[in-house]
Amino acid sequence: MNLSVLYRGPLASCNYDCPYCPFAKRRDPPELLRADRAALARFTGWVAATTDVRLSVLFTPWGEGLTRSWYRDAMTSLSHLPHVDRVVIQTNLAARVDWLADADPGSAALWATYHPGQVERARFLRRCARLTELGVRYSVGVVGLPEHLDEARALRAALPPAVYLWVNAAEGRRYDAVEEATWTALDPHFGYSVRPHLSLGRPCHAGETAVSVLGDGTVRRCHFIPTPIGNLYDGSWRAALKPRGCDAAVCDCHIGYVHLKPLGLRDVFAGGVLERIPAAWPPPASTAR
Ligand code: SF4
Ligand code: SF4
Repeated sequence: MNLSVLYRGPLASCNYDCPYCPFAKRRDPPELLRADRAALARFTGWVAATTDVRLSVLFTPWGEGLTRSWYRDAMTSLSHLPHVDRVVIQTNLAARVDWLADADPGSAALWATYHPGQVERARFLRRCARLTELGVRYSVGVVGLPEHLDEARALRAALPPAVYLWVNAAEGRRYDAVEEATWTALDPHFGYSVRPHLSLGRPCHAGETAVSVLGDGTVRRCHFIPTPIGNLYDGSWRAALKPRGCDAAVCDCHIGYVHLKPLGLRDVFAGGVLERIPAAWPPPASTAR
């Protein structure tokens, strides 16, 4: 049995100040940080003990996790477990990445987002170069806002061709054909992000071979459907897993629709579903870049 687990604890603070984010420059009080740390310790204990399942884990904190030692430690320790295929975290890459030298590069990976205006491109690229040096798999992405276009192009030009750069359609923004083509030139898979996917009633792996887990162990199909289907810590999640159709009208976030069966994205991103790296990357045409 294979299971992808998207984990999100109480942490909701971030060192960056992105204008498009509700968690910008938010600070968590010490008691919340303690609760987040304890919840993560409980979760990593569950992962370590659940050896009858092949697990892949994606940490999707509301804010930034890698500025906290407990997320770095969790990434490192889980990466060494033989029944853990992949352990990934979404990060702004603000923190140093040298600690990944102690992780298993065969399973630890990063989903890194570049936020122009919050960090110098050269500094972000130095972090990327260090990841390449360490042999750690990572994708890099940007939000497709017009004011990010020049930076996104410069980033694409500077990154090694082997590194996939994804572009997320900005929330609520409509892209005309020219804009869509502009961003697709940077990310050939932008088309999946540019329009929400009609998902109601359509079969989705979420709730069958992928679940979302909150700090208290509440298990839901995905981050976007709030109804709990069980709990991680009382074992009720096992009986809850089954093939299901989606209950939501649309699915518009990669960490959700990558599991929507009719899209076939588990094949497109085979071997890199959680860290968002396509199976066929770099594409042949990009070798000239
Ligand atoms: S880095 Fe991410 S979490 Fe932090 S403010 Fe920007 S978008 Fe929000
Ligand atoms: S299609 Fe999206 S919203 Fe629907 S179950 Fe799958 S991940 Fe959740």
